[in-house]
Amino acid sequence: MSTIRTGFGYDVHQLQPGLPFWLGGIVVPHTHGALGHSDADVLIHVICDALLGAANLRDIGFHFPDTDPTYKGIDSKKLLVETMRLLRAKGYELGNVDSTICLERPKINPHIPEMQRVLAEVMGVEADLISIKATTTEKLGFVGRGEGVAAYASVLIVKA
Ligand code: MG
Repeated sequence: MSTIRTGFGYDVHQLQPGLPFWLGGIVVPHTHGALGHSDADVLIHVICDALLGAANLRDIGFHFPDTDPTYKGIDSKKLLVETMRLLRAKGYELGNVDSTICLERPKINPHIPEMQRVLAEVMGVEADLISIKATTTEKLGFVGRGEGVAAYASVLIVKA
């Protein structure tokens, strides 16, 4: 078995007016929020998917199906806690996360240090292991029109 493995995650959620905008474990002040079965935290979802992929543990929908009422409106931080438990149960520890949020507005950069702090605490790792980047899509596509938010994450995991 390999001592280091990589994983990748991608996710999209629609944006709708009047919803709380959960992103990276915090609520970002905005006129719109992400729509989903859970709290629709797209950054946490891609980190979970990247971690699960790295450990070859299927995907977030396999473990937390959106048809299961247990997960209706759930705080995605709970999904991340369970994902880290699954990862460690298979003998792995986080190496690092690098992620990108694609969003036209609001500006995410001011919120990144708080997201890093919250996610590090949830994952039980140092904040320096969690990189979060943000970009617009130059007004192109569904992100550019403000209809949705997308995110990508890659992770490295290390055999403990
Ligand atoms: Mg999702």
